[in-house]
Amino acid sequence: MENHLRLFIAASLPSELITRLDRDILTAPELRKSGLRPVPAQNLHLTLHFIGETPETKLPDIDSALERAVGGIAGFRVRLVGGGCFPNRRSPRVFWIGIDSEASQALGSLAKTVKNELRKAGIGGDPKPFRPHLTIARVGERFDADQDAGALLKKLDAFNSDPFEINEIVCCASDLSRGKPVYEKVIEKRLIG
Ligand code: ATP
Ligand code: MG
Repeated sequence: MENHLRLFIAASLPSELITRLDRDILTAPELRKSGLRPVPAQNLHLTLHFIGETPETKLPDIDSALERAVGGIAGFRVRLVGGGCFPNRRSPRVFWIGIDSEASQALGSLAKTVKNELRKAGIGGDPKPFRPHLTIARVGERFDADQDAGALLKKLDAFNSDPFEINEIVCCASDLSRGKPVYEKVIEKRLIG
């Protein structure tokens, strides 16, 4: 049988920022709540496009689509600012930190280009509109939003990062078979310097 990979396209974060997010956010008391699953520090990333289960044999097509996508796009600066949750505060599924508005536009346009080039290569994926965000924690059944969402949202909303550069995108394979999600980088493409 053909081997399938669960693929997504993302921008990675600088290691100093990951260290700071781990220290100031992921390990904060507001995140240690029943039913809340903070993203492991090494998995933090900005998702650009979710492809999903795909035959491994499609990787060369994905590689050339990404090559075309980054061809005309320059690296850009991003700041993480503020926080929120999807889909709403009463019944949150995902808590996130946001992206400054200028970088949100640049990320949106990068995500659109990636999605279009992949589509031209016959690679589909998540059809939902792109909403730039950094996922910080996922919510399980035992989470008590009435009790715990407020302080967590306040914590996330107070976060501000120094500007950092997005200068490459990656295609990762996500392995959900080991209890915890394990991501492996399978393609890397640099934006124009
Ligand atoms: P888990 O699903 O076990 O909580 P995870 O979400 O980290 O772990 P994946 O579900 O493989 O791992 O997701 C990998 C990336 O793709 C994450 O950024 C996730 O938010 C995003 N993603 C997953 N499914 C979808 C989807 N249906 N639409 C859009 N993005 C998705
Ligand atoms: Mg998931």
